Amino acid sequence: MDFLITGGLVVTADGEFRADVAVDGEKIVSVGEALPRTPEAVVLDASGKYVLPGVIDVHTHFALRSRGTVTADDFASGTRSAACGGVTTVVDFADQLPGASIVRSARARIEEAAPGASVDFALHMTITRVPEDLSGEMADLARMGVGAVKLFTTYRAAGYLLEDDDFLAVAKAANDAGLLVTVHAEDNDIVERLEAAFRDQGTASPSQHARSRPSEAEAVAIRNVAAYLGRLGIPVYFVHVSSLAGLQAVREARRAGRAVHAETCPHYLLLTEDEYSRDRAREFIMTPPLRTAPDASALWNAVLGGEIDVIATDHCAFTREQKALGETCFDVLPGIPGVETLLPLIHHEGVVRRGMELRDMVKVLSHNPARLFGIYPRKGAVAPGADADIVIFDPGCARAISAADLHSNAGYTPYEGMKVQGWPRTVMVRGRVVFAGDQFVGTPGWGRFVPAASGRG
Ligand SMILES: [Zn+2]
Repeated sequence: MDFLITGGLVVTADGEFRADVAVDGEKIVSVGEALPRTPEAVVLDASGKYVLPGVIDVHTHFALRSRGTVTADDFASGTRSAACGGVTTVVDFADQLPGASIVRSARARIEEAAPGASVDFALHMTITRVPEDLSGEMADLARMGVGAVKLFTTYRAAGYLLEDDDFLAVAKAANDAGLLVTVHAEDNDIVERLEAAFRDQGTASPSQHARSRPSEAEAVAIRNVAAYLGRLGIPVYFVHVSSLAGLQAVREARRAGRAVHAETCPHYLLLTEDEYSRDRAREFIMTPPLRTAPDASALWNAVLGGEIDVIATDHCAFTREQKALGETCFDVLPGIPGVETLLPLIHHEGVVRRGMELRDMVKVLSHNPARLFGIYPRKGAVAPGADADIVIFDPGCARAISAADLHSNAGYTPYEGMKVQGWPRTVMVRGRVVFAGDQFVGTPGWGRFVPAASGRG
């Protein structure tokens, strides 16, 4: 045995109980009361602390090349930031490379990620063009352990949009191969027409971002996609649901019997469009945009009521200098950092302030992500046989969030100055401590690709 974590409150998706956790090599080997110590084991005293399964952030964009630039966080800085926030697995995206098969594109992304990664990673495959051998490529993807595809209903100009026929063909082939279909849902016609109108009228300053991409665009796209895919019996996972209107569309689809999963992000729960009328509007531009306070509170109710399956960050960091390159709300590079603050923010705002059960926090941050993306129970559980991805979390630690203490290359955080109670004390990835004593102590290259099991339900 290498580590014995003693006296902590172990939290799983089913409940909380006081237990010791023994770690040998990369695995958890036992969980139980008063486990015997062996002389060589390092004892980590977790009394008064929570012992959580490592957080799985299923929506990060590290080293994303887009719009003539690359995001500020590569896999080294992005996973360092993740590790320091208790995120032990990220699920990032592979883009189709020009002239390469989908599988080759995915393999290239794994090779790009591995040397810098200090936490484990899995991949979604973004499909923006239909490959010649669609069903063969989807089967190959599933075989190599990619668990999901990501499809866009918008961004025609940027080349991300799949037109309806292609969208359906890809969704069907992916689902047949056992891949989960995930969708960025904003109606392209609404977004494109408003952009043209706003540019015409000269009302496209960064302060107009929320008005330029209204929640109706999200609701229309969710409704359309859920109707199409539902009729074909294809389950769908909507990334970053941002609004009450979007949520209502999810509810309608579920009432109609569709298998619909919903993700939201901390920024839609904690920030509002008021940020766009302040000086630093650019630093809050992401898509979909921030919404109103009633939208945020509707999303919180959905989280607390179990209607939201996953909270993930959409971490897509740009520096202030990169953000300053854009003049209009349509040109500012969209995206914000967030992977490191996910767990502390949801713990504080959910558990401390809104009475969320710890087990429900673990559900949306670890358990559900692992199940939906095919890496459970290797990930997302504190149980014998699972990878030793563990967060010893100190619920009494009070801090004010400050970019100066965080590890992203963004250089700022949209949550600057927010006070939270609770912060990770020790974080372990596959049996190796990556964060302790408020320091990153991980090793680039330790993180490995985690293949998803295919054919899950
Ligand atoms: Zn994203």
